[in-house]
Amino acid sequence: MNQSYILPNAWSLIEEGFDPSRVKSSESLFSIGNGAMGQRANFEEYYSGPTFQGSYMGGVYYPDKTRVGWWKNGYPEYFAKVLNAPSWIGIYIKVNGQDLDLYTAKEVHSFRRELQMQTGLLLRYFEVTLADGTRLSIESSRFLSLAQDTIGAIEYKVTLLEGAADIEVKSFLDSGVKNEDSNWDDAFWQTTSVNTKENTAFIAAQTNKTNFKTATYQATEVYLNTAKRIQPTQTMEGELAVGHLYKASLTSGDTLTTYKYGGYILDRKVTGTLEAAVFEVVGRATSAGFEALKTAHANAWKAIWDRADIVIEGDVKAQQGIRFNIFQLNQTYTGKDATLNIGPKGFTGEKYGGSTYWDTEAYCIPFYMATKDQKVARNLLQYRYNQLDKAIENAAKLGFSNGAALYPMVTMNGEECHNEWEITFEEIHRNGAIAFAIFNYYRYTGDYSYIPEMGLEVLIGIARFWHQRATFSTAKNAYVILGVTGPNEYENNVNNNWYTNYLAQWCLQYTKAQVDKISKELPHRFAEIKSKLNWNESESSQWETIANQMYFPKHPDQDLFLQQDGFLDKDLIPAKELLMEERPINQHWSWDRILRSPYIKQADVLQGFYFFEDHFDQATLARHFDFYEPFTVHESSLSPCVHAIQAAKLGRMEQAYQFYLRTSRLDLDDYNKEVEEGLHITSMAGTWMSIVEGFAGLRIVDDKLSFHPQIPEQWGSYSFKINFRNRILKVDISKAQVAFTLSGDTEMSIRMFGKRVVLSPDQTTIHPLS
Ligand code: BGC
Repeated sequence: MNQSYILPNAWSLIEEGFDPSRVKSSESLFSIGNGAMGQRANFEEYYSGPTFQGSYMGGVYYPDKTRVGWWKNGYPEYFAKVLNAPSWIGIYIKVNGQDLDLYTAKEVHSFRRELQMQTGLLLRYFEVTLADGTRLSIESSRFLSLAQDTIGAIEYKVTLLEGAADIEVKSFLDSGVKNEDSNWDDAFWQTTSVNTKENTAFIAAQTNKTNFKTATYQATEVYLNTAKRIQPTQTMEGELAVGHLYKASLTSGDTLTTYKYGGYILDRKVTGTLEAAVFEVVGRATSAGFEALKTAHANAWKAIWDRADIVIEGDVKAQQGIRFNIFQLNQTYTGKDATLNIGPKGFTGEKYGGSTYWDTEAYCIPFYMATKDQKVARNLLQYRYNQLDKAIENAAKLGFSNGAALYPMVTMNGEECHNEWEITFEEIHRNGAIAFAIFNYYRYTGDYSYIPEMGLEVLIGIARFWHQRATFSTAKNAYVILGVTGPNEYENNVNNNWYTNYLAQWCLQYTKAQVDKISKELPHRFAEIKSKLNWNESESSQWETIANQMYFPKHPDQDLFLQQDGFLDKDLIPAKELLMEERPINQHWSWDRILRSPYIKQADVLQGFYFFEDHFDQATLARHFDFYEPFTVHESSLSPCVHAIQAAKLGRMEQAYQFYLRTSRLDLDDYNKEVEEGLHITSMAGTWMSIVEGFAGLRIVDDKLSFHPQIPEQWGSYSFKINFRNRILKVDISKAQVAFTLSGDTEMSIRMFGKRVVLSPDQTTIHPLS
């Protein structure tokens, strides 16, 4: 844990006291988003101190030309960057000619920032004394509407605490933004026009190369003491700043309130012109007004929480952690727009670019499957189906043929945009997670229709890839997979990463089973797939041969799978012996030293034990957990959650709880010392899994929900709801008992501690916990 200034609170993030060294961290933590757009919690007023300004539009990207020291054939031409878009929040205040700037102000008092997760509101209050002694208080509230996703709104109140002052309010759109991570300092945007009319302003801008046409708009209303509306005295139409200037003279106790509505319009989402769309949205926003928009937004959050909330009694930090994770996941991806996905940083930063990693399939789908309608998870699967052609092209660039598909490590539109050879070419396990998600979706939802309609084509492309990527070793008399990087990115170019080989074997077997099933049960559909993919009967028997003869590295004397060939040659010193000041090692050690070390960035062998847990018994899990966890440094956000689930499965609840704190509060407490760059959104779904799959032990066994509920010592009780096959089941677990409440009109049979329990519709069924 590296920071602890966020006050514990069940429903809010609260920061008290102004400290410039925390500004960037808080800008990440207090970020807001509504699935279509999002922004870091930058101040509305001018701030001259260190800050990371960021506002983002879902799905809008720029192909930044790849920059590497030494080009390797197969590298993608570009990296799709999430774009820092024009910012619409600017409300710069001048008081008697001086900037209101928290960094240079003479004194800041009573600073308080709060992100109310229940209602999705970002609030700030502070009092400030400026250089000339003028004292003001500022109160702001801001949200990006979940109910109308092109609308954001701000209420910004300036109150003069004593004396008299002339105040200027500059409400403007800032298009002078830049990505912090541009490769060549290219301009990503071009402003095509700037416009102002009455109290409305907008910038039409187009991304270079990708030609996304967008409008960033604002409409401003300024009132003196609520009643007196003030009209702008000046209009600004510069290329970098467009907006209006308002002036008022205040005496002690007067309040100047600015209401600002703003946001983005994307051409692909409107039928008429961008301009017409801007005025239509502005009309809707201003006629509803701040309060009505706020209520609709809070209601939309209520609907989300009704389904997705997890209530933990007796441990406020744990409660705050899980709600923060659920909140951020919903701010990032709502499931409404099937062209979007869940970027690892969401709308909170730029690192990682792209929007889609294996994180979506391996970590996020279970959360969305259980907390939203089934079609949201199906959309996420379909997103990959829609990009199958690109995955085939991507594999072809690397020399694969016959429709073999390699899904990208990072993408926006299906094309690979990662450019480190050890990841782009070698971290091929990502393909397996995509196949696993198809299986997992069917296992959870019972909706088989996805597989013949779309999934089988994806599976065949993936199986063809593994078929060609495996090599027969005469020395080993087995198929090997050479030159890979497993999930543990602290090992590159290794042979026979156990996880990759195991996943490849499973993909080949699973695809063969689906081919057999669909060719028998849906011969017409299979005939279509066969001709579309030019499928040859002999393929599945070859897959079977490779799967049956797959090689797995093993410990010579112990009953253990090795992470890769040669793992035991390392100097096996447990991670607990590392010096604290050298951690995280990725910020202190050379890459060379990391690669030679035994340290494991994130679950690797154990990731396989997580996916395929029913393939291994408890004792085998315990042996592997005890062998690998001590070398694991958990320097990927994706690591602690898998370990929390497994520790819980092994009944080691204290250890599971510590991993839970680490996953749920990874950003709040800045465990990996990088929260300033943005949040770790995808691992937040892993936090949800830690509770539901870890502590409550949810599995699907023989097509039924199965629970093995446990409770951490520190908690009084916890409860959550899941949507299982379009039925909502509420689960309340306390130290003494577990209660299941099923809504609907048919009974459901589940398993608890392995025993069958029949749940009656609209009733609560209670069982003792042990
Ligand atoms: C992890 C990857 C992950 C990526 C994005 C990396 O640090 O090692 O597994 O896909 O972050 O979350």
